[in-house]
Amino acid sequence: MTDIHIRKDGHAGRITLNRPKALNALTYDMCLSLEEALWTWRDDPTVKLVLIDAEGEKAFCAGGDIAQMYATGKAGDFAYGQQFWRDEYRMNALIAEYPKPVVSFLQGFTMGGGVGVGCHGSHRVVGDSSRIAMPECGIGLIPDVGGSFLLARAPGRLGEYLGLTADRMGPGDAIHAGFANLYLPEDRWEGVKAALCTDGNVAALTTAALSAPDAPLAAEQGEIDRLFAGEALRDILNALKSDGGTFAEAALGKLTRNAPLSMACTVEILHRLRTGTLNIRKALDLEYRFTSRAMERGDFIEGIRAAIIDKDKSPKWTHDPDGVPTADMAAMLRPVTGEKLSFEKRTHGMKIGFIGLGNMGAPMAENLAKAGHHVTGFDMATVTVNGVSNARSAVDAASDADVVVTMLPNGDILKSVAAQVIPVMRKGAVLLDCSTVDVDSARRVATDAEAAGLLPLDAPVSGGIGGAAAGTLTFMVGGSEEAYRKALPLFEIMGQKSVHCGASGNGQAAKICNNMILGVTMIATCEAFALADKLGLDRQAMFDVVSTSSGYSWSMNAYCPAPGIGPQSPADNGYKPGFAADLMLKDLRLSQQAAEASDADTPLGQAATELYRQFVEDEDGTGRDFSAMLPRFEKRGRS
Ligand code: NAD
Repeated sequence: MTDIHIRKDGHAGRITLNRPKALNALTYDMCLSLEEALWTWRDDPTVKLVLIDAEGEKAFCAGGDIAQMYATGKAGDFAYGQQFWRDEYRMNALIAEYPKPVVSFLQGFTMGGGVGVGCHGSHRVVGDSSRIAMPECGIGLIPDVGGSFLLARAPGRLGEYLGLTADRMGPGDAIHAGFANLYLPEDRWEGVKAALCTDGNVAALTTAALSAPDAPLAAEQGEIDRLFAGEALRDILNALKSDGGTFAEAALGKLTRNAPLSMACTVEILHRLRTGTLNIRKALDLEYRFTSRAMERGDFIEGIRAAIIDKDKSPKWTHDPDGVPTADMAAMLRPVTGEKLSFEKRTHGMKIGFIGLGNMGAPMAENLAKAGHHVTGFDMATVTVNGVSNARSAVDAASDADVVVTMLPNGDILKSVAAQVIPVMRKGAVLLDCSTVDVDSARRVATDAEAAGLLPLDAPVSGGIGGAAAGTLTFMVGGSEEAYRKALPLFEIMGQKSVHCGASGNGQAAKICNNMILGVTMIATCEAFALADKLGLDRQAMFDVVSTSSGYSWSMNAYCPAPGIGPQSPADNGYKPGFAADLMLKDLRLSQQAAEASDADTPLGQAATELYRQFVEDEDGTGRDFSAMLPRFEKRGRS
């Protein structure tokens, strides 16, 4: 299973964070997957609510996974971190503004990035183990992921207190501060989750919830409001120092650990948010002004070094607590000059490796590139495709790709290409095979890919070369719901329809069953035309009757094998493919191989296979369209 488990369960769209050993720290890929799932379910009438939970007892999510941000930022590349934040914040806003209930179950630690996922939905459930905090000032950031929105709405000056001290809230405090809104003992969570999925409404949860436990911070509210009311960080520090009481001293101790620039900006952000209309987008926008500059001009890199890399806990901050000039603070909160935060659905390109740029693959890859994706292609033959950059090998095309698409001649070639690319692909990436291959090869490749932490899909197509060029293919898809959802935007570019047929191999199963019907009906249509000719029945009359009577089929109505009759088809072009008889023979053989393996009786499929075999191997069928069976029957007599 991958780092995030996304599926539909009854009436619920379910998201389970699944990195318990890393306290479910949120990676960039997890953010993107989460967002994609939310967009898909938003307009899916079968999904009545979204349920977010996490594996393990220790944490719902203890923060964002900042290792890669640190590595890139330290090397002077700030773009990765900025992109991560922009994409994460957009997902946070989507949760906060979601038109359906979003229910989260927040056991153990919920901090930073975890607050962004777990504390913006409509129903935020805490239990006795829950510990919620915004500790960003300790690593040179500010409370982000919409945390400033929650802090600005907390009673009195509690927001300033929690943002500057990073205090951990138990269940009562979390509800008092507005980070959570329902308390339910953890031994009852699984039962309530099951009821939410079955019923698709939140009544089971709201009736089960108990009244909130005591909130120790509520008892301190008076002190907090008095000590944290200052205009700026300096005023708050002065108030704490001059107070001399135990509460003030403890709070001061906590503040002295944190980055002064971050704390000064946190106070300023909360004050700005409380003037005028308060909404999550305004909060995220202010937060991004800071975070987008935090590596280059702030204390973020040093904060991570001291807390996580060297673990010396002795950060050298850029400012003294008493000495953060207003100009420095203002510079961090100026409007962003580079790429801005956007709340629109993600449109930026995926990295796609495309292997097999033949008759079908080339136009499919071109359509993906035209839609703005970064496509790197590879084919054994030298092929140039508009908008697609050439890789030197399948491995080059696949490393670092979000999705690898294969469009290859057969199962053996697919298996050999898969053996090369699976070891180099990024964990969580999608391996999308669109070739027509046998079910067994598809399932084997899927098993190997899953073992390597990839998301495999078999997604053969119908629609032919014309459909590939026009972007109107139909995809029949086998694989997990999560993989299907990730690939859905690509199916929408390359095709007009995709059907999720179930587990791995089921796409190929659907394809060969469809094509067995197609082979049989094409033969039936061709032999009926040949009979009609011999009976002296006019072809147009035959078409007019059959196409509107019970003998109609796609082969007759849409792809009529008689030249000059019905809509344009390869018959009107000297039977130039179209869909070659060789390929029909390949698909029929696959159907018979599968029928053999599963002990299915398919006498007409068997007969069609033999007829296409004769046509291709013993006669003149090679290179001709599969509808050229009509001139073949015409030439022959009964024997
Ligand atoms: P094609 O022969 O035109 O393309 C296959 C490409 O794969 C070729 O360019 C070949 O050089 C390349 N290739 C072979 N081995 C390779 C390797 N090891 N590494 C990299 N590239 C390699 O075939 P096509 O018509 O594009 O069909 C591709 C798949 O789509 C087939 O499985 C076919 O059954 C299926 N299909 C085709 C049609 C159609 O109308 N052509 C319709 C539906 C499905």
